[in-house]
Amino acid sequence: MKERLLTGDRVTGKLHLGHYVGSLKNRVELQDSYDSFFMLADVHALTTHYKQPETLKAHVNQVTLDYLSVGIDPEQSTIFIQSLIPEIAELTAYFSMFVTVNSLKHNPTIKAEASEKGYSDLYYGFLGYPISQTADIAFCKATVVPVGEDQLPHMEQSRKIMRRFNQLYAPVFNEPKAIVGDCARLIGLDGDSKMSKSKGNTIDLDSTKQEVYDQIKKAKTDPARIRRSDPGHPDICPIYTYHNVFRKEESGSIYEGCQKGMLGCVECKAMIAASINTLLEPMHERRDTYLQRSNYTKEIVQAGTERAQLIAKETMEEVREALMINYF
Ligand code: ATP
Ligand code: MG
Repeated sequence: MKERLLTGDRVTGKLHLGHYVGSLKNRVELQDSYDSFFMLADVHALTTHYKQPETLKAHVNQVTLDYLSVGIDPEQSTIFIQSLIPEIAELTAYFSMFVTVNSLKHNPTIKAEASEKGYSDLYYGFLGYPISQTADIAFCKATVVPVGEDQLPHMEQSRKIMRRFNQLYAPVFNEPKAIVGDCARLIGLDGDSKMSKSKGNTIDLDSTKQEVYDQIKKAKTDPARIRRSDPGHPDICPIYTYHNVFRKEESGSIYEGCQKGMLGCVECKAMIAASINTLLEPMHERRDTYLQRSNYTKEIVQAGTERAQLIAKETMEEVREALMINYF
């Protein structure tokens, strides 16, 4: 029996390069070794997008296509919709009984995202995100969770919640471990510390060649470098970070050329745009193939959701027994 892997994405927009290097690449590499579950997180999307429910359906379809385009194989992996597994909401309720508000408020990712969004008061669902994420992992008893760096505090909290459940009631859950990708946090085109769907600073996986060139052209670079001959500071340049991630073998010479004022930003940007386009090309080909099969994404998500529903029912039997609420 293969161990189970679970991870997911909020259906708040298209997936981007940050997702690829932070988590998607790992998922594709691990899908042969683990029984993999990929969750289209529509409930998590509502924690911040509760006023835009009309966006969810299109994004479910979009993210599914993004999954397929990077090489997630729907024949061996399970792609499912979070809200169609009511046991996740049920587990969230049971876990909520023994998680304190302070432990949630002190979660560094919750803190950072709340301050970015300018929340003066916290929405209950937003604050409870780490509990709901624990339920996502728990319903299918996943032991491995590929995520980006922003999810590590949540993962730590998930392990604690499961440990506590096991101590309080019965040993139902295995503590899951996080697996972080090659680049735990890819910087945004605007120089923000995280490329993120909601910040509009992304290169999306379905971007055309021209879009990639245009976006890279507009991206922030070292602000101190005005003339080509000025010595650059690659350490603070987002474009250099991309070289380090996407053209790692040649990044040493880029560093030197930039620092010595021998390599201009225009040329440096053209090189990275070309490498990103090479990376995206096979993704576009796969996407086109899947797009030609009408209704295909819907069918695989439906089948995946049905499979996840069966597993959720099995886990809930154990949970109800542990909580002594298996009445009949
Ligand atoms: P949103 O802005 O709507 O929260 P997001 O871009 O943060 O969107 P999520 O759906 O919240 O995307 O994250 C999905 C997964 O991708 C998580 O595991 C997260 O850690 C990872 N991830 C997202 N952005 C990056 C990034 N820039 N670098 C590395 N990993 C990332
Ligand atoms: Mg996020």
